[in-house]
Amino acid sequence: MLETTATLTSAIDTQQLFDTNSKELYQDSIEKAVEYVKNFLDNETFYSGISIDELRKKKDLISVQNTAPLSIDEALKEIKELYLDHAISFHNTSYVAHLNCPVLIPALVGEVLATAVNTAVETWDQSTSATFIEQEVINWITSLFKLPTTADGVFTSGGTQSNFMGLLMARDHYAYKHFGFNIKENGLNDIIRKFRIFCSEKSHFSIKKNAALLGLGYNSVIPVSTNERFEMEPEALVLAIEKEKQQGNIPIAVVATTGTTDYGSFDPVETINAIAKEYDLWLHVDGAYGGCYVVTDTHKHLLKGVQYADSVTVDFHKTLFQPVCSSAFLVANNDHFKYVSHYADYLNPIENKDNEFPDLIVKSIQTTRRFDALKLWFTLKVTGQKTLASYLETVHYKALDVYSILENDIFFEVVHKPALSTIVFRYKALSIDNDTIHDSINLHIKDTLFKSGQASIASTKLNGVTYLKFTLLNPTITIEKLSHIIHLIKEKGNYYQKNN
Ligand SMILES: *Cc1c(COP(=O)(O)O)cnc(C)c1O
Repeated sequence: MLETTATLTSAIDTQQLFDTNSKELYQDSIEKAVEYVKNFLDNETFYSGISIDELRKKKDLISVQNTAPLSIDEALKEIKELYLDHAISFHNTSYVAHLNCPVLIPALVGEVLATAVNTAVETWDQSTSATFIEQEVINWITSLFKLPTTADGVFTSGGTQSNFMGLLMARDHYAYKHFGFNIKENGLNDIIRKFRIFCSEKSHFSIKKNAALLGLGYNSVIPVSTNERFEMEPEALVLAIEKEKQQGNIPIAVVATTGTTDYGSFDPVETINAIAKEYDLWLHVDGAYGGCYVVTDTHKHLLKGVQYADSVTVDFHKTLFQPVCSSAFLVANNDHFKYVSHYADYLNPIENKDNEFPDLIVKSIQTTRRFDALKLWFTLKVTGQKTLASYLETVHYKALDVYSILENDIFFEVVHKPALSTIVFRYKALSIDNDTIHDSINLHIKDTLFKSGQASIASTKLNGVTYLKFTLLNPTITIEKLSHIIHLIKEKGNYYQKNN
């Protein structure tokens, strides 16, 4: 028996495990990877423009089945050809499509540490001081939002999960407070099917998706109309609440979006809060896009009223230059985490609940969880809040510059003045007065610019009509660059029109 174990130990390759014996291999491997990343930064365009068929053909490179082990050098060479040469560069200023920000070097340093040490922020005995670091970053953001001293929060995988937690708490809290019903213990009942959630018609799709996941269904989400700036209309909210009540339904929550995904518009949180209090509704603020603007001078006033929210979503991987994932869910009353907490004998037994060692797991719907707070902590220490604010203000002003360029160009129709850093517009051929044709032209523009690697822009729909969208998150983008992208859009539009 002993002999077998001994033979086995000498035979297996333990060299690749990260430990004190592999320090040199670790450093050497990571340095090699860093070289490849540096070369990735030199990719000329934001995308190679390779077709999906060409990528599919790289089957041998993609496959992990029955492959002989490679050296790190061989694997890096392969991954360059398969991935690094064709990955989308969010740092490239030709990328103006979605809410993907360029990332900060201090954040990447934080990631190197968190990934290698591999702390899981669940229980004190797994995370020790990481617990305090996450808590400190949470305290930083709750105090910026001026949430009450009872406030608390937790890092999540993103705005979708944060919104899920907000709606879950709203649902369970309402059921408990008004019907003495414990959903965590008993699941749903017929009354809960009458629960209604109100949000602006421009709110993020995750509100509906989460309502479905929570057993309430898409139809429990009541869209409230917006004004010409795409902000929720308080009068319409009141009417919608009254209408649902008349139908025998039970309003439980309202979601105010601070920074809608397409228009960057801010719902009037203070007024919505007054309505929420009047009807005893949970107020959730979805600040996935605009929440981080609390650090700026330009936009912090638009977040007035967030201090009265019951819960808040904020995404650092959208607008604080953090690598994915880095996001937080905040709650005004930390007691409400009881709706998600669970006490497992093997992990955080109930008898330890109030001991002096905090277990972050009681606040999370995840069990094993990444130490995502570290990169933001590093960013706050090294980059600092002032510089972050200047980046956000810069991209906002650039969006306003783009607005005036497009407004003064007869080939464009602009939908809104940027509230944050997005701008929704469309190319308009002068001689054509047909939305279907304009839809095709605009989609053609977007597709050809993407495929050629010239620029990545987004598209969205407003009242059934297709529009293009810029999302600016890179403070290094210049007006010359933006003018060039606008020039390309006109060129493609013109060409398509002439040839179709
Ligand atoms: C992006 C976004 C979300 C979803 O956030 P993820 O981090 O992508 O899950 C939610 N709400 C708004 C307003 C968003 O813009």
